[in-house]
Parts: sequence; C-alpha cells; structure tokens
Amino acid sequence: MEFELTQEQKMYQRAVRDFCEGELKPYAAEVDRTGELRWEAIRKMPELGLTGLQVPEEYGGAALDTISVVLAMEELGRACGSTALSLAAHNGLCCAPLVKWGSAAQKEAYLPRLTSGETLGALALTEPGAGSDLAGGVRTTAVKEGDSWIIDGTKAWITNPKYAPVIITLCRTDKQAGNKGFSMILVEPETEGLTRHPPEKKMGVRGSPTQMISYDNVRVPLDHLLGEEGRGFYQTMETLDGGRIGIGALSVGLAQAAFEESVRYAKQREAFGQKIASYQAIQWMIADAALEIDAARLLVMRAAWLKDQGKPFSKEAAMGKLMASEVAEKVCFNAIQIHGSYGYSQEFPVERIYRDQRLMTIGEGTSQVQRMVIARRVVEEMQ
Ligand SMILES: Cc1cc2nc3c(=O)[nH]c(=O)nc-3n(C[C@H](O)[C@H](O)[C@H](O)COP(=O)(O)OP(=O)(O)OC[C@H]3O[C@@H](n4cnc5c(N)ncnc54)[C@H](O)[C@@H]3O)c2cc1C
Repeated sequence: MEFELTQEQKMYQRAVRDFCEGELKPYAAEVDRTGELRWEAIRKMPELGLTGLQVPEEYGGAALDTISVVLAMEELGRACGSTALSLAAHNGLCCAPLVKWGSAAQKEAYLPRLTSGETLGALALTEPGAGSDLAGGVRTTAVKEGDSWIIDGTKAWITNPKYAPVIITLCRTDKQAGNKGFSMILVEPETEGLTRHPPEKKMGVRGSPTQMISYDNVRVPLDHLLGEEGRGFYQTMETLDGGRIGIGALSVGLAQAAFEESVRYAKQREAFGQKIASYQAIQWMIADAALEIDAARLLVMRAAWLKDQGKPFSKEAAMGKLMASEVAEKVCFNAIQIHGSYGYSQEFPVERIYRDQRLMTIGEGTSQVQRMVIARRVVEEMQ
C-alpha cells in the first residue's frame, strides 16, 4: 500500500488549503454565530471541484479519486466544521448515490445543479423513531398509485434540505419484504405536501442546516425511483460506507485545527515563569495528539485507497471514522485544557471546534454502530 501523495494530489491539497484559509477559516465563527453558511465561498467552490468531488466532469464535477476527497474534506474540516459537514453530506450522501444509481435523465436533471455552487443536496434516511436501526424503524412509505409514488412520513435530522434541489428519500415500498422492502426516491422539496421544518438549534455545526421534513401525500412520478425498487437498504449501507470516509477526514481536520491552536497557544502562554509548552504535562498532550491524529489520518487514507482500488473497504471506513471521531473528541478536549479558561471562551476557536466535533461520533453511524460493523466483518473474516 503506497501512501505517498502524487504531485497532483499535493497540488490539489495546497489549492484547497489556500482557498479554505482565505474563504472559510476567517468566517467560521460568524457562520457558527449566525447559523448561516457563507454562500460567497460556496459559489467559488466549483472551481476546485468541491461541490462535485466525485461527479463526472460532464455534469460539472471534478471526478477526483477518493484520496483527493479525503484531502479536501480534511482541509474543509480544519477551516469550518459547519461548511465541511454540509459539503460532506452534499458530496457523500446526495451526489454519490445519484452518480452511482441515477439514470441518464436523473443525472442530467440534478447533477449540474448540484455541482453549480448554488445548491447543496440532501439524503433523508433518519426518522424521529429510527436512526441506527433504519431497517427496523423506518416508517416513511411510498405506495404506487397510477404513474406516481405517494410518499407519507417524517424524516428527522437531515442536513441541507433548506438548500437542496432534490432530497433523496429512503422509503418503505414493501412492508412484507424486510431489508428488501426499501427504495430510494428522488423528491424535489417544492413538491406539494412536503414541508421543511425550521433548522434545529444545535450544540455545534450550527451553520449547517439540520431539518425535519414531513411528507404528507407527496406525489412524485414513478421514474423518480433511484436505482432498483427494493434495493434502498443496500444502497443506504453502501452510501454510508463511502460517507464515513468523508466524515473520518472531516474529523481529522477538526482535530488538526484544535491541535494547531493548542500548540500555538502553549508556545506563547506563560505560567510559573515559563512557557507552558515547556512543561511535560502539556507536551504529553501535544505528543498524544500528534500521534493519534496521524494514526487516524492513515486509517482514513487506507479506506480511501482501498475504495480507489475497487477493493472492499466497509470495515476500514468504519475503523477510520471511529478512530478519527474519537481522536477528535480527545484532541479537542485537551485543546481546551491547554487553553485553560480561554479555551472555554467563545473568543478562541477551540470552543467552537469542540462543539462541532461532538457530532462526529454520532452522524453517519454512531461509534457503537461502527464497532458493530467492524466486529461483524472481523468475525466473518475469522471463519
Ligand atoms: C447534525 C446532524 C446531521 C445529520 N444529518 C443527517 C442526514 O443528512 N441524513 C440522515 O438521514 N440523518 C442525519 N443525521 C442523523 C444521524 O445519522 C443519526 O442521529 C444517527 O444515525 C443516530 O441515530 P439516532 O439519533 O436515532 O440514535 P439511536 O439510533 O436512537 O441511538 C441512540 C444510542 O443507542 C445506541 N445504540 C443503538 N443501537 C445500538 C445497538 N444495537 N447496540 C449498541 N448501542 C446501540 C447508539 O449508538 C446511540 O448511542 C444527522 C444528525 C445530526 C445530529
């Protein structure tokens, strides 16, 4: 396995970092405070492919390899957690399934709009009563009537509906068929009967809109089915495998940002007549952070590399996401410790980064779910 980046990947990383440092990082506190993404920046993102990371070029995307996606997501996370989350959901949860399973007409209808920098896509799986256990808990139904699907139900905690030209919706299309009774359906948010509720008031990633959606007798044409009828559960699992690489990289970025802030602070803050960076207690936190961020980054990269090789990567994506999100929690916790009272103040970025990273052990599968995925694969492999 080769981990050295190609010249092209290094140049892309540099370009995305420069963009994020100029267009996102200086505004991250404002995005958090106002609860609004900075569209001035998002509109410039197509130039770097950020709004269509793995979308074919014919639809306005950048058709990048997954290693480059990891590089981009880390830089976005390092600069602004809210923007990074919305972009992770847009690319990993909405564009990816459209590219994979969309018909030519569906791709033509939505991908150019999704990559334009004017919209952000959404995938609606979770419901008020179903998160980790989608197969057991999803109640949203889609029933065929003439030339339409009629959708009824409620989705909760969905990223980006406010800005989405299309919401991919996981529906139960056959109540008797178990895991084979789900389908993904493309729903335009303006469709009659669909209500996007106001964004949730959240602990972190406050600029990224998270909304409940109600579907009340929502009628969409039959050809809005994404892929095959009855494959929705399996499409979901496959989509989440890829999405977890993005969330893993985003978590590494958040950890990296908190780490850089704490090293900078420790080098200038004095106590007992010395810079606090000279004390071993602080150095050990710094050393552990450096080590664990690198380990997490490498795990996420391995999953991306496997995906690019066309090899199975489900277990490795779960490992990368689990490790990176838990490392982010620890690194951000210690970043506040190193800052003392100042870390608890909104004047310093680590306070926001700590709140933003807290989501990462929950979204796209909790840490407990990642452990279930890993354990299942390990047990299978050992037979
Ligand atoms: C900011 C934000 C953005 C989100 N964006 C999206 C989105 O775009 N699209 C979307 O569909 N969803 C989205 N979600 C929802 C998210 O994916 C779910 O919240 C997550 O999957 C967990 O589901 P839950 O909240 O229902 O928790 P539950 O499934 O109710 O879990 C509660 C607790 O029980 C644990 N648990 C559950 N089952 C087991 C088990 N078998 N063994 C051990 N422990 C278990 C969980 O790990 C967790 O600790 C978002 C959530 C947030 C907060």
